Amino acid sequence: MKASAIIVAAGSGSRLGRSEPKAFVPLAGRTLLSYSLATIARVAAIGEIVIAVPAGMEKAARAESSALSVPVKITAGGAERQDSVRVALALTSTESELVVVHDAARPFATAETFEACLAAADRAGGAIAAIPVADTLKRVGDDRKIVATVSRAGLWQAQTPQAFRRALLVAAHDRATRDQLAATDDADLVGRIGARIEIVECTTPNPKITTAADLALAEALMRGRIRI
Ligand code: C5P
Repeated sequence: MKASAIIVAAGSGSRLGRSEPKAFVPLAGRTLLSYSLATIARVAAIGEIVIAVPAGMEKAARAESSALSVPVKITAGGAERQDSVRVALALTSTESELVVVHDAARPFATAETFEACLAAADRAGGAIAAIPVADTLKRVGDDRKIVATVSRAGLWQAQTPQAFRRALLVAAHDRATRDQLAATDDADLVGRIGARIEIVECTTPNPKITTAADLALAEALMRGRIRI
């Protein structure tokens, strides 16, 4: 099995309230991006990494990845996450059977999770890291009034990494472009072309860093090495 990895790191991270783009914000002395790069470099099946970064940050991304033994391609991302994946996907080797997409905003994803997603995608077509919903869910109206309680049975929170057969991911993005479909993850687009996508339960913390509070919590986790 031969695979390419895409790291989407082109978000501005405006909700973090920092001057630098989110992937370049320091976490325990290193950039957010560096954690995903180091983890992916440990996954034997991954033969190349394509990183989408904000325009103007290509040099900084090159500096982050210069010590890695795996080849790295760097591109400017697009306006939305989906655009960044599409641009990076076009740069992946056609010889890769699988492509795994990962958010730079999830620095705790482990090499084992990447490996499990790739193995399941190889078998099923697609596989994504996810966790079962633990909280009770409420549907809330504009006036902040609770309208309904939604059963959490069978509900999972989608995370990254998300791995797919390359041909499926390409077909899904081509269809999205043609039909002007928008999605916040790749599993949604690949699912819409009828492919089978499995869940890989993520048993170690894999939070997405969005706010300053998320960053503070991640800092404590990383510094305390509470990496199970
Ligand atoms: O904004 P959010 O945290 O949901 O973004 C998820 C991931 O997608 C982040 O790693 C971010 O850098 C990336 N992204 C991107 N291009 C965009 C927007 C987000 O690569 N235009």
